[in-house]
Amino acid sequence: MKKSFWETKSLSELNREEWEALCDGCGRCCLVKLEDEENGDIHYTSVACKLLDLETCRCTNYQNRAQLMPECVIVTPQVLDRLHWMPSTCAYRLLGEGKPLPPWHPLISGNPHSVDLAGISVRGRVYQQAQINEDDVQDYIVTWPE
Ligand code: SF4
Ligand code: SF4
Repeated sequence: MKKSFWETKSLSELNREEWEALCDGCGRCCLVKLEDEENGDIHYTSVACKLLDLETCRCTNYQNRAQLMPECVIVTPQVLDRLHWMPSTCAYRLLGEGKPLPPWHPLISGNPHSVDLAGISVRGRVYQQAQINEDDVQDYIVTWPE
């Protein structure tokens, strides 16, 4: 059987279209993260970036996200050495660690909703940043299913 582009190319060899296609739209990377100052561990919360559309789990201003949200880390082939902070289910991190895409990834399932059906996306499970008192964010630390 013919291999797919993500099986034959390294992440740094992907063209823009292929790179974008790898994103499953889970929205997990758009959650507020807290870093443990003592050991560097990254903790994910259920608080979403204010630009995340909680219904579609997509950025509402993807083209201008770098200007609008300076803390937004733009995931590109140039930051492959920083993928460890990405969610464990993220396609970029999985491939970067030499792992296969999971069955629920839309590129495998052929169904754009499989990421929701598998309980991987943040749809319906997160809060808008504006709803949360900034000082209380640590109360929203959650462990997302893998
Ligand atoms: S965690 Fe990865 S797969 Fe999910 S939305 Fe972010 S970049 Fe896309
Ligand atoms: S600016 Fe957009 S891509 Fe960046 S974290 Fe916020 S919602 Fe996600």
